Amino acid sequence: MNKTIQATLGAVLLSVGIAVGAPAGKPNIVFIFSDDHSIQTIGAYNSRLSEFCRQQQVTPNIDRLAAAGALFPNSFCGNSLCSPSRASVLTGLHSGSNGVTNLGQPVRQGAWMYPAAVRAAGYQTAAFGKWHLGDTPANTDYWRLFPGQGNYWNPSVIGPNGEEKLTGYATDLLTDLSLGWLKQRDKNKPFMLLLHHKAPHRPWEPPTRYYNWLSSVTIPEPPTLFDDHAGRGTPAHTQKMEIGRDMVLSSDLKVRQAGKGEQSAEFDASYGARNTAFEKAHLEGQALTRWKYQEYMKDYLRCIKAVDDSVGRVCDYLKAEGLEENTIVIYAADQGFYNGEHGWFDKRWIYEESIHMPLIVKWPGVVKPGSRPTPLVQNIDYAPTFVEMAGGKVPEGLHGRSLVPLLRGETPADWRKSIYYHYYDPGHGVTKHYGVRTERFTLANFYPVKEWELYDLEKNPQQMRSVHGDPAYATTVTELTAELERLRKQFEAGFDPQAPAAPPQRKGKKNKK
Ligand code: CA
Repeated sequence: MNKTIQATLGAVLLSVGIAVGAPAGKPNIVFIFSDDHSIQTIGAYNSRLSEFCRQQQVTPNIDRLAAAGALFPNSFCGNSLCSPSRASVLTGLHSGSNGVTNLGQPVRQGAWMYPAAVRAAGYQTAAFGKWHLGDTPANTDYWRLFPGQGNYWNPSVIGPNGEEKLTGYATDLLTDLSLGWLKQRDKNKPFMLLLHHKAPHRPWEPPTRYYNWLSSVTIPEPPTLFDDHAGRGTPAHTQKMEIGRDMVLSSDLKVRQAGKGEQSAEFDASYGARNTAFEKAHLEGQALTRWKYQEYMKDYLRCIKAVDDSVGRVCDYLKAEGLEENTIVIYAADQGFYNGEHGWFDKRWIYEESIHMPLIVKWPGVVKPGSRPTPLVQNIDYAPTFVEMAGGKVPEGLHGRSLVPLLRGETPADWRKSIYYHYYDPGHGVTKHYGVRTERFTLANFYPVKEWELYDLEKNPQQMRSVHGDPAYATTVTELTAELERLRKQFEAGFDPQAPAAPPQRKGKKNKK
């Protein structure tokens, strides 16, 4: 069979979702999934720090994927937290249905998960790194997964023979393990590699080679670094995720810390002088917040730079082995992250910086290089997408739908016009809430405090003022409230907003609006 006929046949089989054995034309799939990587800090995104990231070469390899493939500007999670987002990726279901509403919980017993379906489609599969779903199995042929969150330095990994302690830096070790597995694979079968980095998750510990990188650079501050949260409801005033007040000098910012293990000499040489200068400066108030912002962001970007190196190493291997043209490479992160916007770090909210998930897909011969599909996509779409890419069988009843048509440049007429969101964890003092995000609006119900918020993203993209009580938006409130009810019925039948216990609330300023 010549290559053109084979490619055409492969495309036809994929487009009708027929499960076939393992023809040579089946694409390999590499899914590189990082943790807490914001769209603001990817050069290829048109976001707050994108230009800075391009100038400083923070994400050159990720940017190359975006240039050669599709970047989704409207990609979202459904519950902005590590474990819940990962469970939605695995199951194609929202948190309330897959059982993972909170950190470290296992996926509901008996739930369908995509790795088994990809395997059943004839793929050899492996998973490395952060899983963070209790005892949920990887369902892959080979796996080395962190227990819980995993550590940046000298992490332990769990495999079929139990726990093993590795020596070195997590991002590099996971890349080594991935490439090692690829080298010994059965070359007669297509493969799917899940490379799930811990970085750039808190506490943002970079590799030694980047300890001094960016040290003399000033990271642009967000205009909202000193946001007083007026114009928003009680929840924005009772959170505990402010850089100035809540970020920890020792564990987060490495002040009064000494280096550990084999990286100690480099750590002390790089951070020691900085720490001495910091102690002498006796910073307070806004000056202290500014210092914390700079140092937090530098370590965060250093961790990202190492993730980008990992992307580069994997892509280089694919190219060297002649696999580049027949391998799909996906880069994504489990949710967005605050990089000082509104004075915050962390995630959790339905608000923009938190709900956005980076998603970039390079698929030679299928995705038009440099394409930017604008429909609203969500983490629940990954599982059916991967299974369709592998020519496997997508089950009925998933909440998400395959992105393959969008990747081919076609938007189905009935594609979703709104996405559903529900955050259940009271961590960082963030009030539980559910809501709906459309192309233009965000509507949220912070049910423990019985407060609603509405943001007009066209007129107020930074979400500084809720217009829920503004009569000019009365019709919008009615329509979106009905849409939210429809989504709740679809995705969370039986959910009682009064049932969960309200998180402890600190006394805060009330929304004056
Ligand atoms: Ca995360």
